[in-house]
Amino acid sequence: MGTLRLVGESVRKSRRLRKARSLRYPNDRGRNPSPEPRSPISNLNDRENVSQKTEPVRSVKGVRDLLPKEMQLWQRVEEATRAVFSTYNFQEIRTPVLEYTSLFARSVGPDTDIVSKEMFTFEDSDRESLTLRPEATASVIRAYIEHSLYNEGGIHKLFYMGPMFRRERPQKGRFRQFYQIGAEVLGSMEPGTDAEVLEILHVLITERLGIREVNLLLNSVGCSECRPRYVAALRQALEGVKQNLCVDCQRRAESNPLRVLDCKVEADQPLIGKLPRILDYLCEACRLHLDEVKKGLNQRKINYEITPRLVRGLDYYVRTTFEMTSGTLGAQNALAGGGRYDGLVELLGGPRTPGIGFAIGEDRLVLAHQSAATQEAGANLIYIAWLEDNSLAAASDLARELRQSNQRVELVYSPMKMKKSLATANRLNARFAVIIGPDEIETGRYQVKDMASGQQEPVDRTGIGVYLQSRTG
Ligand SMILES: [Zn+2]
Ligand SMILES: [Zn+2]
Repeated sequence: MGTLRLVGESVRKSRRLRKARSLRYPNDRGRNPSPEPRSPISNLNDRENVSQKTEPVRSVKGVRDLLPKEMQLWQRVEEATRAVFSTYNFQEIRTPVLEYTSLFARSVGPDTDIVSKEMFTFEDSDRESLTLRPEATASVIRAYIEHSLYNEGGIHKLFYMGPMFRRERPQKGRFRQFYQIGAEVLGSMEPGTDAEVLEILHVLITERLGIREVNLLLNSVGCSECRPRYVAALRQALEGVKQNLCVDCQRRAESNPLRVLDCKVEADQPLIGKLPRILDYLCEACRLHLDEVKKGLNQRKINYEITPRLVRGLDYYVRTTFEMTSGTLGAQNALAGGGRYDGLVELLGGPRTPGIGFAIGEDRLVLAHQSAATQEAGANLIYIAWLEDNSLAAASDLARELRQSNQRVELVYSPMKMKKSLATANRLNARFAVIIGPDEIETGRYQVKDMASGQQEPVDRTGIGVYLQSRTG
């Protein structure tokens, strides 16, 4: 419970600080025996009066605005999300962004980076420690317990979307206010539920949003019966090699050996690759569960990759755990992650209830969808580049002819130099550019440039339709 202590410490520290301040500015110095404490806002006003200058206001570091132009894309993603969840009979839940700090310390885990360094935590004026939610599963479970939803019986299939807050180091594509779309299924321990949850992710991400190069990584983290055996084996194996691992791993080898498997340090990888694999330690029930999930995915023709290193270090995670990545996202390629957490409801004070869920990083989802959408818009596009006034008529003739045979064609009417014309073709993601200038008009052979390879060849005017048709299909 290191974090609980940590949070407690910072609370005590800020109390000490306040006490120190009140000692430095004792109330009984002035004529007024107890002046009203000045609000932070009146201080701000003072500062403004002094500088006499109106600085433009700015957003808080690490957060951003989503402008109307971007919102179209976000709305498209969110509409698709609602539509998909609705077909699986999920219902939306909205929980507050503000929670008591203890909720996350208990659920997310005190020695995770999230809780130990990344939360926006502050003391309210009544000295309660509050936190802007860094994720939403804990809040959904809290609401499930607080409103006794379990009394309704049956299975609860819930989804949410909204902002989360983590005080991470600002870097490209990472924001301190970011958005997640998530699902939680409470009350089913069937492997069929796991397979369906993965089907939802698959349908939304690849089918509805057209995101490509998607990989589903799948693993089992065992249960309270078999995992301790694995952790013991891992601990033992680490005993021999930990001095050759990074500092973090040396610490994790003691505190939470499973987290060694998360290490991204390049030099550690060969050693980590040789550590025992959890799949070799699963008990019969866990092995059966994993087999059933795999069967469900195979039956749905959803590809997956068994990834033994995909583990979660917290006790309430059991069995199925997964991650979805997309190669279109570059280094920060994780799109979604989730797993089964049969012990979480109980941990937060509710009745024993199995659960499984996932969270999708909506910011990245939008980014990946955007690149899929532009590529789609540019798919098989033919750009006609004309060079002089007297080739425009030939260009528009060709455009019309190609469009008649259902080709997607872009023809820009303002005169441009060759270089700018090809740059435009590039920007539109055109598959081919057809170049028509005086030479081409004279010979009756137009240059056709493959925009991806950069290769270019002359093609007879009369054969261009067939030539492009055969290559753009
Ligand atoms: Zn087990
Ligand atoms: Zn390491």
